[in-house]
Amino acid sequence: MHENPSVATARPPSEPEPGAWRRSLSRAIRDPDRLIEALDLPESLRDGARRASRRFPLLVPPEYLARIRPGDPDDPLLRQVLPLDAEEASVEGFVPDPVGDEAARRAPGLLRKYHGRALLVASGACAVHCRYCFRRHFAYSEQPGSMSSWEPAIRDLRSDPSVHEVILSGGDPLLLPDSRLEELTHAIAALRHVHRLRVHSRLPIVLPDRVDASLLRWLRSSRLTPWMVVHANHPHELEGAAAEALARLVDAGVPVLNQAVLLRGVNDDIATLTALSERLCDLRVAPYYLHRLDRVAGAAHFEVDTGRGVRLVEELRSRLPGYAIPSFVEERPGAPSKVRLA
Ligand SMILES: *Cc1c(COP(=O)(O)O)cnc(C)c1O
Ligand code: SF4
Repeated sequence: MHENPSVATARPPSEPEPGAWRRSLSRAIRDPDRLIEALDLPESLRDGARRASRRFPLLVPPEYLARIRPGDPDDPLLRQVLPLDAEEASVEGFVPDPVGDEAARRAPGLLRKYHGRALLVASGACAVHCRYCFRRHFAYSEQPGSMSSWEPAIRDLRSDPSVHEVILSGGDPLLLPDSRLEELTHAIAALRHVHRLRVHSRLPIVLPDRVDASLLRWLRSSRLTPWMVVHANHPHELEGAAAEALARLVDAGVPVLNQAVLLRGVNDDIATLTALSERLCDLRVAPYYLHRLDRVAGAAHFEVDTGRGVRLVEELRSRLPGYAIPSFVEERPGAPSKVRLA
């Protein structure tokens, strides 16, 4: 293979150029017509996609698009991002805030539900719009925009020594520029009772370029122990650049866990769930949670019956080692932890 010595000394081949992720994100598809054309999808999907995307816009980054099989309206990755008429249906029990986030808000951007852990909604934006997401109705614009607007949240954390872990979540916290992540982490690390910084992000999966040298440096530079929780629902999401991004995180010494959502037509069969767990374990990522769908308005067509979910996880337990089995959980407003179903 031809090697250019000036680049050979710079970075390993799989490592992205620092900051290249912003260009990847700017190439994301936001227009339903473009998605339908790019993937050669049936015309019959066009009107529904246009309508449903007015309420919650379409957003598909290029790395994710590349893993969708063209011409297949049932592709499990496409189903997660394609706006459908079904989202417009009003279904009893499916509501705008199914997880009680409003009641758990302690300061702008700060949620406290569980002992010892506090969650910061560090960014309202995402790099992909998952149609089933409970944040589809979230008041994103109310999240703090600058470092000074985080002060009430930091003050609340300072006053509560029981908090040992701060979770950066969102939206997607890794859409913040590195400088903002550093500032925020600096403020958290100044709270002596906090030991760990957990990052909940879907970017290693959907925008793998985000895991660049600068991000890894940030994760390793604080006195806080970093943990990363990524979000993949199907083994096809764990190919190519996403697998390399996960390897960079694990090689950097960051423990990585995965949470998935049980979704009708995406991963609600034993072969897919088995393949997902196997693939994660091969990539040194531990399956952590399999969430029951939050009953958010617009997502009813993704729901899987709880009993069937329990049976699927029991079946999984009969096939795989214990460390490959995620806990099947649901979130109940007011409960002291995620509630384990299997
Ligand atoms: C899910 C969640 C957590 C994390 O729960 P773990 O069981 O520790 O993963 C923390 N805070 C809030 C508000 C959450 O919704
Ligand atoms: S918060 Fe997570 S699940 Fe929801 S749209 Fe963003 S990336 Fe998808």
